[in-house]
Amino acid sequence: MAASIENNYHQTMEIFTEACRQAGKSPQDVTLIAVSKFFLPADIQRVYDLGQRFFGENRAQELMEKQPVLPKDIRWHFIGRLQRNKVKYIIDKAAMIHSVDSLELAREISRQAQLKDVEMPVLIQVNLGGEETKAGFAAEELRASLAAIAGLPGLKVQGLMTIGPYMADPEATRPLFRQMRALKEAAASWDIPGVDMRYLSMGMSHDYAVAIAEGADFVRVGSAIFGNRIYE
Ligand SMILES: *Cc1c(COP(=O)(O)O)cnc(C)c1O
Repeated sequence: MAASIENNYHQTMEIFTEACRQAGKSPQDVTLIAVSKFFLPADIQRVYDLGQRFFGENRAQELMEKQPVLPKDIRWHFIGRLQRNKVKYIIDKAAMIHSVDSLELAREISRQAQLKDVEMPVLIQVNLGGEETKAGFAAEELRASLAAIAGLPGLKVQGLMTIGPYMADPEATRPLFRQMRALKEAAASWDIPGVDMRYLSMGMSHDYAVAIAEGADFVRVGSAIFGNRIYE
């Protein structure tokens, strides 16, 4: 049978459910975010119609265009690099921002959240691999950064996020996922006021099953559901 968004989604949910089961978790305890960047509202609606409610976008512009034309009970998670001057456009549209990668960005989220009278749940992005092209805090600066960010009004620090390197063999990313889990537990033990170390966001289309096995609370799955993105 030809691949369709519907088939892809069912297959993804099967793998997801089985990975949760093997990790000793209920599928309700882990959230799959369907990453819909580059895809049109009509495609998102098809996945919504299958029951999916969490969607992820990585550009402010796309979120601004899609949110108003799609069902209001969609939970939009912002997962990409966010420029400070774009925060104001998404602050009342996103349910969570996964990609807080600087104190300056956190301050702007705080400022805009207060203006709109909302409290924004955020995750702090960590760059464990030290990859130059990837954003995020190094593990060594996490503790001081968490303390600084958690003190800001209008946002709630609820965990950590990472973007792993692409490895042909998803098993190769397992050690990094395991380190993230350890870092989350360490961060929880620091007992920083205002920090609720609840969630770990890690794992994408080719490695989400491994991420779930290593303790992911959010997995961000795009191409496995929607198909390949055409970049132009
Ligand atoms: C695009 C993207 C994803 C999804 O990637 P796929 O490989 O298509 O599943 C996940 N996380 C972030 C931050 C992304 O930008």
